[in-house]
Amino acid sequence: MKTTYRSIFKWGDKREEKLEKGVVELVKEQFQYTDTDFDKKILYGNKEVRLSQKPKIPVIVRQQFETISGSENVLRDDYSRASHAFGKFYGDLLYLRKGEIATPPDLVITPRSEKEIEQILTLCKQENIAVTPVGGLSSVTRGVETPHGGISLDLTKHLNKILKVNDVNSTVRVEPGVYGPVLEKYLNERGFTCGHFPQSFEYSTVGGWVAARGAGQASTGYGKIEDLVLALRVITPAGIIETKDFPATAEAWDLNKIFIGSEGTLGVITSITLKIRKYQPENRALASFVFKDCQSATQSMRKIMQAGIGFPHLFRLSDPVETTTAFKIKGFDNSLSDKFLEMKGYRQGERCLMFVSIEGNKAYARLVKKKIKRIARKHGSFFIGAKPTKDWLKQRYDSAYMRDPLMDAGIMTDTVETSVTWDNLLNLWTNVRVYLESRERTHVMSHISHVYENGANLYFTFLSPMKQGEEMPDYLDYHHGLMDAILDNGGSL
Ligand SMILES: Cc1cc2nc3c(=O)[nH]c(=O)nc-3n(C[C@H](O)[C@H](O)[C@H](O)COP(=O)(O)OP(=O)(O)OC[C@H]3O[C@@H](n4cnc5c(N)ncnc54)[C@H](O)[C@@H]3O)c2cc1C
Repeated sequence: MKTTYRSIFKWGDKREEKLEKGVVELVKEQFQYTDTDFDKKILYGNKEVRLSQKPKIPVIVRQQFETISGSENVLRDDYSRASHAFGKFYGDLLYLRKGEIATPPDLVITPRSEKEIEQILTLCKQENIAVTPVGGLSSVTRGVETPHGGISLDLTKHLNKILKVNDVNSTVRVEPGVYGPVLEKYLNERGFTCGHFPQSFEYSTVGGWVAARGAGQASTGYGKIEDLVLALRVITPAGIIETKDFPATAEAWDLNKIFIGSEGTLGVITSITLKIRKYQPENRALASFVFKDCQSATQSMRKIMQAGIGFPHLFRLSDPVETTTAFKIKGFDNSLSDKFLEMKGYRQGERCLMFVSIEGNKAYARLVKKKIKRIARKHGSFFIGAKPTKDWLKQRYDSAYMRDPLMDAGIMTDTVETSVTWDNLLNLWTNVRVYLESRERTHVMSHISHVYENGANLYFTFLSPMKQGEEMPDYLDYHHGLMDAILDNGGSL
């Protein structure tokens, strides 16, 4: 039975259990770790959950919630409240590991219908109680926290149905609490794909995707979530707002855009109509390239996006450190291929790895791949076939599960992303790296993912030993500095 803080911050996925051998080697090499350092289990979080704060909502009001949703759907035990107090931001994980929960929700309610949500919001408005809608609780922007206590409205238990696939219009209508894999399996069986694959895909929901305005790994081809949403139904304290699934309209403001990215602050999204695309995995065209340096690789990426040849779906570029790290972790270091690339002038510490996948109609996918190869070649790339991209796709969600075992070993690790225009990309990349590397004993990797005609998204991942005893202030200080470095250099927050 789940009773500890650890069982809250762990997703429970078996990939979280231990670190890949290559990652252990990397940590040993970078931070002079020994095997004993991996046995220490820093801030392990295996204490039983106990909250000192009792629910503040008066019994008489709680009973009204119980009348609305049934007492089995109104939870006030410590574990339910604690497990809805945080998302998956690095700081959240630290708090849970320390067993520190300052402002848990007073109640967790799992409503069974829209009608119940309407009644809950009416009562909360009347009683001045804060409401936080939640899906998979994988937020990394602190969107599911309850600083004013109140109610965590968990939509995953009952509001998780796929309502309708319309194969004439190519759309699907779902309830918010449906998890990624459930939706994708259902669509694949009917010849469609949802096209939205955030790295948290396996543990996040459609409602969360929309409310957090995220991007999936194949967003370069399919678009971000705001490009996929056609219609929404939202219960707000002021009434219901419903948009229609028109392919496009000129009816003044686009109300969808108000709710997409609203992080649950404006109402509860209860139904979502998404565009869906044909699922044709057999036609997927894959390509992998090595470039001599970042300059030529990013220039090639830009030229591909602006050439009018169609877009790849997955388009990803690792910087020299991430490329070298991947070679090491996967055991290619010093292999024949490694030596061959070195001989050809693709030097370790300078070379960059690019992954490309194009989906859709067979002739289209092949044509786009051919054109991409031509542009990449012009920029001095070396084509290394389909396999590296295929292998990457097989483990596309796995690195998310490394965070917990790394933290167990006392390693602070996080990924932060920013969006930037092409003309500023290398400047931002360089300066943010300088900031991140100004911390001693820090391994910084970056990559580009989600690429646009006008710019791209840069991801920075860092690993560094925690300052033990000062884990939180140390992290927050470094993180704030990182935000400043991004903003000062013209990146988005
Ligand atoms: C390891 C890891 C990798 C990640 N990778 C990605 C990635 O590649 N791309 C990406 O976009 N994000 C990523 N995320 C962030 C996160 O997974 C996404 O924001 C995701 O969309 C959240 O979905 P969720 O169901 O977990 O929502 P939650 O975390 O439960 O909620 C997210 C926000 O949406 C609100 N919300 C949830 N449901 C509703 C609703 N029905 N109505 C109104 N508001 C609602 C919540 O109040 C909160 O503000 C990652 C997170 C982790 C931990």
